[in-house]
Amino acid sequence: MVKILISADMEGATGVTWPADVLPGTPQWERCRSMFTSDVQAAALGFFDGGADQVLVNEAHWTMRNLLLEQLDERVEMLTGRHKALSMVEGVQHGDVDGIAFVGYHAGAGMEGVLAHTYLANSITGVWLDDVRASEGLLNAHVVAEYGVPVVLVTGDDVACEDALGYAPEALKVAVKDHVSRYAAVCRTPARTAADIRAAAKQAVALAGRRDPVVGGPYTVAVEFDAEHLSSAATVVPGVDRIGERKVAYTSPTMYETIRTFKAVTTVVSAAVEEQYG
Ligand SMILES: [Zn+2]
Repeated sequence: MVKILISADMEGATGVTWPADVLPGTPQWERCRSMFTSDVQAAALGFFDGGADQVLVNEAHWTMRNLLLEQLDERVEMLTGRHKALSMVEGVQHGDVDGIAFVGYHAGAGMEGVLAHTYLANSITGVWLDDVRASEGLLNAHVVAEYGVPVVLVTGDDVACEDALGYAPEALKVAVKDHVSRYAAVCRTPARTAADIRAAAKQAVALAGRRDPVVGGPYTVAVEFDAEHLSSAATVVPGVDRIGERKVAYTSPTMYETIRTFKAVTTVVSAAVEEQYG
C-alpha cells in the first residue's frame, strides 16, 4: 500500500506570476485555479501511473480553498480549508504516508523567484533555519523528515526547483515556468506542464518509502521583518527574542514545535500590520 501526500501551494503553479493570480476572489485567481488544479491532477495521475494506491492532496495556499475538487480524478482525496496542526504538510503525521510532493512551491523570502516569500508576502524579508536561508520547501522538508517521509517531487518555477536541490536533492523536479522577475516568468502551457509533471510523478513513486525519522533538534529559527514594530510584536510569543532591530529568533527541540512556533509568530505579526505603513 503506497500513499502519497501532495502539499499544494499556488505561487509556483503553471501560469501564475502576479499577486492577483493567487488572491482569492479576484477574476485572475478564478482563472488560475484551474491551471493550479491541472498541476495537482497531473501529479496525482502520475503517482497512480507509478503504482501509488492512495493520493491525498493538502491545500496549502492562503485560505487553503483554491483547488477545484470536481476536476480531480475520482481516486484522489483532498484536505481543504485552514487551521491544521501541520499547516502546509498536514496529514504527514499519521504514519501512513510514504512520500510527499511539493506542488506549486516557490522561492523563499528575500530570494529571487516568482512571487518569492516565506509565509507572509511582504512583512517577512528573510527566514533562516540554523543559519540557512529558508523557503517554505526547506522548512516543510525538515518537518516531514521528522516523520520519516521523503520529498519525492517538487514543482514550481526554475528557482524553486533549484532551491529544492538543497533540501531534497533526490526528488524529481519540474519547472513549469522560468523566473524573469518577482512578477514575471516565461510560462509553459498547462498541456505541456501537465505532461511533464505526470511523467515525473510516475518516476517519483520509486523514491517513496518510509525512512528512519530524522531527530535533528534543537533547531534555531531567525525571522527578519520589514519594519521594527513587527519584531517587537513577535516577542509576545514565549521563547521568541529580539536579536536585532527587525529580527527575532527562537529555538525549539523538534521541527514540529519549530513550525508551530513559526505559525504563532506569523499570526501575531499579521495582526500587527497596518494597512498603511505596514
Ligand atoms: Zn507558499
